[in-house]
Amino acid sequence: MRTFDVTVIGGGPAGLAAAISAEKEGARVLLIEREARLGGVLKQCIHDGFGVIRFGEKLSGCEYGARFIKELEKTSVEVSCLTFASKIEKTEEGFLLTLIKRSGLEEISTKTIVLATGCRERTAKQVSIHGSRPAGVFTAGTAQYYLNVMGQMPGKRCVILGSGDIGLIMARRLTLEGAEVLGVYEAKPTPSGLMRNIYQCLNDFEIPLHLSHTVTRVHGDGRVCGVTTAKVDEKMQPIAGTEEYIECDTLILSVGLIPENELAEMLGVKLDPSTKGALCDQLYMTMTDGVFSCGNALHVNDLADYVSESGDEAGKNAARYAAHKRELAEVHFDRNFLYVVPQRIDLTDKSKPAVFFFRSSEERKKTRVRLLLNGTEILKKTYQNLRPPEMERLSVDLSALPLEASSKLEFVMEELPS
Ligand SMILES: Cc1cc2nc3c(=O)[nH]c(=O)nc-3n(C[C@H](O)[C@H](O)[C@H](O)COP(=O)(O)OP(=O)(O)OC[C@H]3O[C@@H](n4cnc5c(N)ncnc54)[C@H](O)[C@@H]3O)c2cc1C
Repeated sequence: MRTFDVTVIGGGPAGLAAAISAEKEGARVLLIEREARLGGVLKQCIHDGFGVIRFGEKLSGCEYGARFIKELEKTSVEVSCLTFASKIEKTEEGFLLTLIKRSGLEEISTKTIVLATGCRERTAKQVSIHGSRPAGVFTAGTAQYYLNVMGQMPGKRCVILGSGDIGLIMARRLTLEGAEVLGVYEAKPTPSGLMRNIYQCLNDFEIPLHLSHTVTRVHGDGRVCGVTTAKVDEKMQPIAGTEEYIECDTLILSVGLIPENELAEMLGVKLDPSTKGALCDQLYMTMTDGVFSCGNALHVNDLADYVSESGDEAGKNAARYAAHKRELAEVHFDRNFLYVVPQRIDLTDKSKPAVFFFRSSEERKKTRVRLLLNGTEILKKTYQNLRPPEMERLSVDLSALPLEASSKLEFVMEELPS
């Protein structure tokens, strides 16, 4: 049986960065990708906006991915595409991984695992829309794949449900390719995507955004022929009498992403209900020793640059991993936060600053975020505004702090007068 120090599952930006950084540490690395080509979601992102933080340049997703693939080609990382990691078991030496390949099944042994499996899109089944299920209902990512990879138009008259970034980008893309985008309908009172995408993808193309609206019914037998939309109340329930019928041939859903963690669950890795990803420490190790997680599998990131940063760290720490008993302090946060990652601090390694990512639970104007250790402020930062779609990053030097497992490390958020 072949053995590796680090096996990275997923060849998107998180997995590419993890494999490269693990190899730099001298580890024997295997990178597994179920698709035929590396790059993950980046392969279908032909729009720009990637790499501004990491490279100081605006790259397309494909260009951003290519930089990592080129770097990977210079390493001794073993890459296995068209390979699906289907099963993981804990062994005395590490883990036994079952891989499904074109040539058949293979079992490999690995000391550590980096889960970089990305996330999947919520489908029509996860939002309640009445009516039949005719052809012409797509998730935004699938529509993007049709258009950008297969060169096929998903439809000509489109309604988009949800104002997530993928939906906004598809509104622009479909318009540029000659489709009519009749509107984006968002159940929440505020948009779910980045502000830059609202301006660049909707406003610039005069595509209407209907906030506090949803699609309640899909019409059509063989193919979508229309949808019913309605206003919703504060509890997101449709308001009777506000229904409107819209004739269209396509409904595109951009209603959220869910980290893909079936493999983690198989191993009994503890998940965080707020992120749907694994609970992890500042070294990106999950609560299961030897299993690391990064990128969108850990939590849905807004920028690929942050995904790569988490991959760099997860890969490096997986390569350096030596079994030891961790001493973990819990990271607390008040209910003004949607989530904070990492959720634990390993006190046995405070040598490097811990990088925290968080999102606010709702839109806020001028806001101060403070980090308290047993009630004493150790860091504060003021934001002119905070929006749930935009992830925030905070680096905290823990080395000099009297942090113990029983300490209360807590993030608090308070709105300031503007
Ligand atoms: C439409 C769209 C537009 C975006 N626009 C921007 C933008 O403008 N700027 C920006 O910075 N970011 C953008 N992003 C975000 C960025 O693309 C993602 O954050 C990034 O791709 C996530 O990287 P990842 O490696 O975690 O996951 P992914 O890219 O999803 O890669 C995960 C990989 O794991 C593989 N995999 C999963 N399970 C298994 C398994 N069991 N065995 C083998 N392989 C497996 C998958 O096939 C996939 O290739 C956009 C994303 C989308 C979808």
